[in-house]
Amino acid sequence: MAGILFIISAPSGSGKSTLVSEVRRLVPGLEFSISYTTRAPRGSEEDGREYHFTTRENFEHMIDAGEFLEWAKVFGSNYYGTATSALDHARALGHDLLLDIDVQGALQVIGKMPEAVSIFILPPSPDVLERRLRNRSQAEGFTDEAVIAARLAQARTELERIAGYKYALVNDVLDEAATEMRAIVLAARGDANAADAAVAAGCLTASHSPKLLAALHSFGVTAPQP
Ligand code: ADP
Ligand code: 5GP
Repeated sequence: MAGILFIISAPSGSGKSTLVSEVRRLVPGLEFSISYTTRAPRGSEEDGREYHFTTRENFEHMIDAGEFLEWAKVFGSNYYGTATSALDHARALGHDLLLDIDVQGALQVIGKMPEAVSIFILPPSPDVLERRLRNRSQAEGFTDEAVIAARLAQARTELERIAGYKYALVNDVLDEAATEMRAIVLAARGDANAADAAVAAGCLTASHSPKLLAALHSFGVTAPQP
């Protein structure tokens, strides 16, 4: 089966980029949608590779022209959006497409395309999330305390939207999380063996796995009711 839309969201610093790269290494045929954004490129980012970097004027023109499947303002002021053309392109080639988008955008896409496979990635606890955010910013050479505090506060708000996602995956040990995400992809494609299917079923948000409940509890978020 091809042409499946996977939607991935996670609080910043959960390890989503790390996990997605690992899964794309394990499972062939997952095309990555390149979003449009008005934020400036960071570090070694290149236009057309991580994002299509564009101006606010052009982004607003694209909104008016109805060119986005979804768009949102993320972290205050910058626009981010998925062009409908990315989806059309993947469909024409029969490829599965992976959208790495925030909760606001994900809920728009889930509303329009309920058949999409939505996956929320959680960090195991606020302490681990804070450590990962700090490690990453140290590696980038600069730690902005206000940014770390804002991202931790934002994480809890995002976790409160988890009920809208079909799957919830706790990124504690990377290999385990990658195995789980691989199983979800194979199950969606109808390619899962019995063991993979059981792993994927255990990641359904509604299955309330002990790992999921523990992570939600550590953030003070109530588990979603089925
Ligand atoms: P995101 O894309 O969700 O913002 P990153 O993939 O940039 O997050 O990961 C944030 C930091 O956490 C990085 O320094 C990364 O190496 C580290 N990291 C990611 N996953 C794990 C994991 N399972 N265990 C330990 N560290 C991790
Ligand atoms: P960053 O600036 O760190 O690359 O991304 C910030 C946030 O924007 C992440 O949560 C990421 O998932 C989200 N994001 C990236 N592209 C899109 C997009 O096209 N649409 C929406 N709604 N969010 C996006």
